[in-house]
Amino acid sequence: MPSNLIFKTAAELAALLEAKEVSSVELVRAFIARTKAVDGKVRAFNSFDEADALAQASASDARRAAGQARGALDGMPVGIKDVIAVAGQPLTASSRMLANFISPYDATVTRKLKDAGAIPWGRLNMDEFAMGSSTENSAFHPTCNPWDLGCVPGGSSGGAAAAIAAGEAPLALGSDTGGSIRQPAAFCSVVGLKPTYGLVSRYGLIAFASSLDQIGPLARTVEDAAMLLGTIAGHDPQDSTSFSTPIPDYRAELKRRRGPWKLGVPKEYFGTGLDAEVGGAVKAAIGFYREAGCEIREVSLPLAADYAIAVYYIIATAEASSNLARYDGVRYGHRSKEATDAIDLYFKSRAEGFGPEVKRRIILGTHVLSSGYHDAYYLRAQKVRTLIRNDFMRAFQEVDALLAPVSPTAAFKQGEKSSDPLAMYLSDIYTISLNLAGLPGISIPCGFTRGGLPIGLQIIGPPYEEAGLLAIAHAYEQGHDWHTRHPSL
Ligand code: GLN
Repeated sequence: MPSNLIFKTAAELAALLEAKEVSSVELVRAFIARTKAVDGKVRAFNSFDEADALAQASASDARRAAGQARGALDGMPVGIKDVIAVAGQPLTASSRMLANFISPYDATVTRKLKDAGAIPWGRLNMDEFAMGSSTENSAFHPTCNPWDLGCVPGGSSGGAAAAIAAGEAPLALGSDTGGSIRQPAAFCSVVGLKPTYGLVSRYGLIAFASSLDQIGPLARTVEDAAMLLGTIAGHDPQDSTSFSTPIPDYRAELKRRRGPWKLGVPKEYFGTGLDAEVGGAVKAAIGFYREAGCEIREVSLPLAADYAIAVYYIIATAEASSNLARYDGVRYGHRSKEATDAIDLYFKSRAEGFGPEVKRRIILGTHVLSSGYHDAYYLRAQKVRTLIRNDFMRAFQEVDALLAPVSPTAAFKQGEKSSDPLAMYLSDIYTISLNLAGLPGISIPCGFTRGGLPIGLQIIGPPYEEAGLLAIAHAYEQGHDWHTRHPSL
């Protein structure tokens, strides 16, 4: 069996499985052993079910032996953010509210993974109900950044990004409402893709803000992300917001699409607030594309930069207050044992079940939807949202994609922003507008700070242009070796 399986790309592991140089059981054992060795420090996982993963791995090996392998991902472990349902496994959203909940069914993405022979591997930590940018809002424990255990891994899909960076999983699924796949990917030096709104079914994803949420892949390389995206994308009759569009073979398209491209640089994304080292690395990446023959144009997204955060925290909290109303201790979730009557039961169950950030969002969301404020806040935010989308669509008349930072800084210290919600919210200033506009975006590693912390490049595309986005990202990755570096732990 080849050594060092844990840092191989999913494409390399798929080739080893196919050549029968490694079995799925050996592969899953390697990730279990690694997780047991390092997760005491990284804490990327809320839980994992060793016996279940090994049983699925033997079933995969049996299929392969019988010549019935289902494709490249057959036998491949895929970490799952603890907000996506896997039948028979815990589904906690890293909340006390759902601490004892076991999912009775599979999310559509989980079913698609299983149909492809992939093995859901573990429940990955996150900010409670996906609200946060550091994974410190988990009700169970924070996750640490594998590159510097004193730093946050980003969030809310911090467990997913950290697990890949630490060699605990080759691939993972996260969810992105305002940056939760791309920002942790950038902080941990992995690839993270937020698909176009509607490309991937959200059936079985615990809802945070339904007009913004998307499930997407986290991976070691662009090619691996392409493989995973191809497996989970596509129309689903169980999600009425999922779109009917042909799904290309994203992995094959990487080879077919070679540029040169016309690439836009939004000037507002390079202003004050952007850390100099992060800005420098992103500008160097832009220089790479220029030298590769791409035409680089400055574009302007005036509203996206100025209003995205404000608009997002109205719309996202409004939708969250509605989505989280079901956790009342009666229909769902933690039920207080202290209650004296029905109203008291609602109060106490929520008071005990939800953490402070979730409560803050519910209060804010209820306020912006209340009569008297609904038109002033919620309706106005929806109008500005349309204008933000128009900004992007105007830019895409001129260019194929946009190049931008992912987050204004590299990973920050644990605790540094936890008492300042506004500072925390600002870490999504470059990612949030894509969710408001429904656009796809990918974060890829583009360097390190002098202190050794990863930096990400964000590439933003027009709706349903994931194939082009992946090809542009792949071209950069081919010319750099950031993805071959691993934290020492
Ligand atoms: N950090 C943002 C928030 O706290 C985005 C989270 C997400 O994308 N789920 O809402």
